[in-house]
Amino acid sequence: MIHQSPPRAWIEVDLEAIAHNLDIVRQLQCDAMLMPVVKAEAYGHGLISVARRLDRDGISFFGVANAGEARRLSLAGIRTPAFILGPSFPEERQEIVHHAWGCAVSSFDELEHYDELAAAEGVCFSLHLAIDTGMGREGFLPEQIDELIARVPLLEHIQVTGVMTHCPCADDDVPYTQQQLKLFAECVERLQPHFDLQCRHVAASAALLGYDVPCANMLRPGIVLYGVAPLASVFDGVLRPALKLNARVTLVRELPAGHGVSYGRRAILDKPTRVATVGIGYADGWFRSLSEQGAQVSIQGKLCPMLGRVTMDQIMVDVTVLPEVKSGDTVSLIGPQQSVEEVARLAGTIPWEVFTGLRARVPRVYH
Ligand SMILES: *Cc1c(COP(=O)(O)O)cnc(C)c1O
Repeated sequence: MIHQSPPRAWIEVDLEAIAHNLDIVRQLQCDAMLMPVVKAEAYGHGLISVARRLDRDGISFFGVANAGEARRLSLAGIRTPAFILGPSFPEERQEIVHHAWGCAVSSFDELEHYDELAAAEGVCFSLHLAIDTGMGREGFLPEQIDELIARVPLLEHIQVTGVMTHCPCADDDVPYTQQQLKLFAECVERLQPHFDLQCRHVAASAALLGYDVPCANMLRPGIVLYGVAPLASVFDGVLRPALKLNARVTLVRELPAGHGVSYGRRAILDKPTRVATVGIGYADGWFRSLSEQGAQVSIQGKLCPMLGRVTMDQIMVDVTVLPEVKSGDTVSLIGPQQSVEEVARLAGTIPWEVFTGLRARVPRVYH
């Protein structure tokens, strides 16, 4: 259509790669239940598209951040129930009970409120207990187990059907994580006689790749689904990246030696240079912190260095080695020639932030 500009930058998502990565997780622990984590727009890959592809693929829940994300799944007709990983505000809880979404609770206030709401709704509401074994973000402390055992049975409209914890350093502190897992196993053992703990879950991607957790029976894979292994594992090279970030060359010019490029004139050309302007910037999620870190982009299969600072909507690239390059050509920023791990390293961050930093204005194209 005449009034639509072709996108300067776009994301290609391979939904089959995500399904494949979930199969890899399944093969790793074939008797475990699965809660694929699709919070934050499925790590930038697109909440609804990813959920549609994985829906009913033998999974128990979709892990989401909050009630808003759970609502979007429901409205899209996704059948697998949402499980809300973070705390909810009191005014969100009635909707949670009404839809029987899963959630993890951390306080007696929440337990009592859910009990009241379930009574009003005339239902028995199932929920999971979060245990804080060291993450410091949510959950009951292990010291509160006795109080849980004493008080929860008095709440007649809630039913504890699961227990969970989360590991802060499964990717870099094995002894600490093992100690944490042992503590979780003790909590499960104490709770087990009093509750029907159908779902016992600990493992996000790093923990599921690197640890054996005999007391758990459900996995919460996040970043592995999107093709990134946070730990070296037997599955190195088996996971498939699901996302490619592309942009287009918008302009190509020859600039003389001594000319500056971009804000702050941090790059001064030391020789005559063919400079391509490319339509992506930090407002798309191509971090400004990638400036002057040796970041490259790939054009016609060749890696070309970025010049100077990333600007809001555009970057400049040295394409002297590519005499043929022209406006409209495709530029690959994340893809086979430059992984998200490499981009994260250059930007001084982690793949999770690179994925979730990709902005809504960048259209997603699905295969
Ligand atoms: C985000 C999250 C996950 C998934 O983590 P990954 O490291 O991406 O696999 C699992 N569990 C909880 C509680 C989370 O918040």
